[in-house]
Formats: sequence, structure tokens, C-alpha cells
Amino acid sequence: MPLLRVDALHKDFGGLRAVDGLSFEVEKGHVHALIGPNGSGKTTVLNLLSGVYTPTAGRIEVEGNLLGAWRPHRMVRSGMARTFQNIRLFRELTALENVMVGCHSWTRAGLLGAITGARVEERRIRERALELIELVGISERRDSLGRNLPYGQQRLLELARALASNPRLLLLDEPAAGLNAAETEALSDLLRNLRAGGLTLLLVEHDMGMVIPLSDRVTVLNFGRKIAEGSPRQIQDDEAVIEAYLGRPEGAARQ
Ligand code: ADP
Ligand code: MG
Repeated sequence: MPLLRVDALHKDFGGLRAVDGLSFEVEKGHVHALIGPNGSGKTTVLNLLSGVYTPTAGRIEVEGNLLGAWRPHRMVRSGMARTFQNIRLFRELTALENVMVGCHSWTRAGLLGAITGARVEERRIRERALELIELVGISERRDSLGRNLPYGQQRLLELARALASNPRLLLLDEPAAGLNAAETEALSDLLRNLRAGGLTLLLVEHDMGMVIPLSDRVTVLNFGRKIAEGSPRQIQDDEAVIEAYLGRPEGAARQ
């Protein structure tokens, strides 16, 4: 059984059909990439999966369980966590505190407990948050305010915070956007390590240089529809993808 099954998903915004009958499956333990030109519906798909939007039609199943209508914490309960295309952090909290907030979803005491001071749980949370900060490689910045971290480290911090809810499926919306080549390489290594640890990733990404070596399987969107799906190699060679997404290489017609 796939971890995630999306079946005939539709999302309309007024007259605009942003997602148009999309079906795909994500296997457990895979890095599954969702790619496509700007405006092709990738972020909308993540918003539907994470319960930000209600589908106009279609089904979303996690391990065979149909996800119901939106409700608070649906995403966390269904084992998903996400990062955002535009980074969302608590700018006035430290890096460590940002990750600790992410941890509160799985503790018994919850956020209220944190505020009223459930000491033992608070210590566990702090330890877990420190582990995650180390995992993403920003330990030395743990006491810096979110707003004072350089951009690349804010991306890593957002990832640590998403991991703090102990997800089975991590949704990443263009995690390499704005990163330089070295940072992108480091991020790819980190995502590979997460997969090796058993995490499943749905990766929305624009950077083909990152997607191709990292992904097990690729789904390609154009105008909200799936136009291709397969291994990275199949996708690279697919005519429809080359045309819709990569554009025809300059001078190709002359060869
Ligand atoms: P992508 O992430 O692939 O760039 P999006 O999912 O952000 O694409 O957008 C898909 C289409 O849906 C675009 O035409 C966009 O303008 C539109 N869209 C996205 N969100 C909304 C919204 N909340 N209201 C109206 N239109 C939206
Ligand atoms: Mg987007």
C-alpha cells in the first residue's frame, strides 16, 4: 500500500482550475518529486494535502485512510509535516525555541503544558529540539533569533521544526529556493539521510539539478494536470516535459 494516495483531486479558485483531476501515489521510503512550471498547481497540492484548502473534488488517503474535512491538527495527526515556499518562522523566538514549538504537537501537555510549565516534558522537548538542530547542522546558532539567521539557515531551521512533529511524510515546498550551490548540495545530503532513516518525502522543487539525483520518482504538473510520471531519467527524456517545463534548448532545431 502506498503511504499517500491522491485520487482525482480538483481545486477551483473561482473560475480558475488550479488542480485538475490529479492522481498519484507516493511509496513509503521514497523521495517523490512534484515538479512543473510556475503556476502549475504544486503549492496548491501541498495546501490540499496539509488541509489548508478543502478539495473541490477528489480523495486523499494516507495508508488507506481517507483524510476528512479540514480541522486543526489534521496534518500532524495524519503524520504529515511541511515547510513553506515562503519561510514561516517565529522571528522573535530563538532557533531552539522555534523547534521546541514544533515538538509540542506530540507531547501530552501540549502548548498549554509548555506555558504552565510541565517540567519533565519540557526537558524532553528541549533535548529533542537540540537533536534536530544538530541534525540540520545549525547547532552553533541555536540561541540566535529566527530573524537574525541567514536565509539558508532559516530554511534549515524550518526543516528542523517540521521534523519536530515526528512526521512519516514530509512535504517540502521549494526547499532549495534562494540557496547557493553549496547549500543546495548540503540540503540534498540531509534529505538523503532523512530518507535513509525511513522518512518519506514529497518534494516540490524548481531546481532540476537537485530533483534528478535525489528523487526516486517524479510527477510533472502543467496547468494543474499530470503530464508525465516516472523515474528521473524517464522524466528527463520525456518530450512533453522538456517542452512544458524545461523549454526547448536554444539552437536544438539546428542540430
Ligand atoms: P505553483 O506552486 O506550481 O507555482 P500554485 O499552486 O501556487 O502554483 O498556483 C496554481 C494556480 O492557482 C496559479 O494560477 C495561482 O495563481 C492560483 N492560485 C493559487 N492559490 C490561489 C488562491 N488562494 N486564490 C486564487 N488563486 C490561487
Ligand atoms: Mg509554489
